[in-house]
Amino acid sequence: MRKVVKFGGSSLADSHQFEKVGNIIRADASRVYVVPSAPGKRFSGDRKVTDLLYDAYRAASEDADSGAVDAVLGKIRARYAEIIEGLGLGEFFLGADFDEIRKNLLEAPERDYVASRGEYLNGRIMARYLGYEFLDAKEVIFFDADGRLDAEKTNEVLRGRLESMPNAVIPGFYGCGADGRVKTFSRGGSDITGSIVARASGADVYENWTDVSGFMVADPRIVANPQSIDTITYRELRELSYMGASVLHEDAIFPVRHAGIPINIRNTNEPDAAGTWIVESTARQPKYTITGIAGKKDFCSVLISKALMNSEIGFYRRVSQAFEDHGVSVEHMPSGIDTMTVVVHESEFLNKEQQVVSEIHRQCSPDSIEIDSGLALIAVVGRGMKSTRGTAGRIFSALAHAHVNVRMIDQGSSELNIIIAVDNQDFETAIRAIYDIFVTTQL
Ligand code: ASP
Repeated sequence: MRKVVKFGGSSLADSHQFEKVGNIIRADASRVYVVPSAPGKRFSGDRKVTDLLYDAYRAASEDADSGAVDAVLGKIRARYAEIIEGLGLGEFFLGADFDEIRKNLLEAPERDYVASRGEYLNGRIMARYLGYEFLDAKEVIFFDADGRLDAEKTNEVLRGRLESMPNAVIPGFYGCGADGRVKTFSRGGSDITGSIVARASGADVYENWTDVSGFMVADPRIVANPQSIDTITYRELRELSYMGASVLHEDAIFPVRHAGIPINIRNTNEPDAAGTWIVESTARQPKYTITGIAGKKDFCSVLISKALMNSEIGFYRRVSQAFEDHGVSVEHMPSGIDTMTVVVHESEFLNKEQQVVSEIHRQCSPDSIEIDSGLALIAVVGRGMKSTRGTAGRIFSALAHAHVNVRMIDQGSSELNIIIAVDNQDFETAIRAIYDIFVTTQL
């Protein structure tokens, strides 16, 4: 058994959290490869080290004055000093690293390099604390000239290096760009590094340790103490994270999915909780008919009507082209007999709406176009829905009882999800009503 363990920023925010992580790793000899994030927030209102590093970069690129850079670097240094001292690792051994970061900032600041140092330094500390080898992500994770992960080269090189390392710490969040310089993933990208390491090492499990005990059926800011999800498939997770459920970086599933490695989301502060398993496929029936509910506010719908639209070849294509030409991405496209609706993000669409509308008029000569805004989309996701009769009926009767007007319905052909649009102001009420009917009443 071989496990890759990734720890998020709040799990490594100070020496006390580091100790918890050390205990978790030592409790299971199969936890051989460790991917740390940078130290995160210690309390609400605190700043993550990555954010401080971005501050330092901003100060360096805007200010000629080295004092501002030194002030931020001082704060970052204090965070690492506390960890090193608290763990009893002896003297502060990152002095030369800090000199190098300062030099980069003052001479020719590089944004990604600076941001990546949070993980780099934490990785160095972690390696010393555990007595594991340190493997710099810059040597084994590669991006192509378009800035995308070069998955095959990375897998090849990383696999080769890990073969001769029985255990190692590989810092998260960054790798090497096509120009040979450090390049980072988007925020939260250490989740992707963990997944890459799991694939390359042929791990049996990718454990992703964070500060919640896995995924919840609904957002705890909307539903008080929601149930957690024991097992979720990659596809279900994809639907939920698209709608904003954010425990794991969206791109983190791809490397492990490729290799059929399950992800186990765990809680550093509650190490005995089983957490959530993310798997390719499972025979395990979900506890409830639905696996999860998630949603987002602020969408617009563009309703296009034209008599006999369905018999006009290329109509849908020309409509989508109008959106594409103006750089607006289409989120959903439910259709009727003589109508089609295009759902888009309000923020992307607002300042381009009139150009898109006139383009559709030019290309498609519709009878009318109506725009509606202030829509919230809610996805009700579950592999159990396919085999359960009356799911849609229950959702809509719950919403009717809660006095929520359903503005639009879109059921994917996978029968894995039902997407409902409601007014922004009904968003929370609708989610609670759906949660209650499926979970609280346990029907
Ligand atoms: N430290 C980085 C961030 O704050 C990456 C990560 O934590 O995954 O986004």
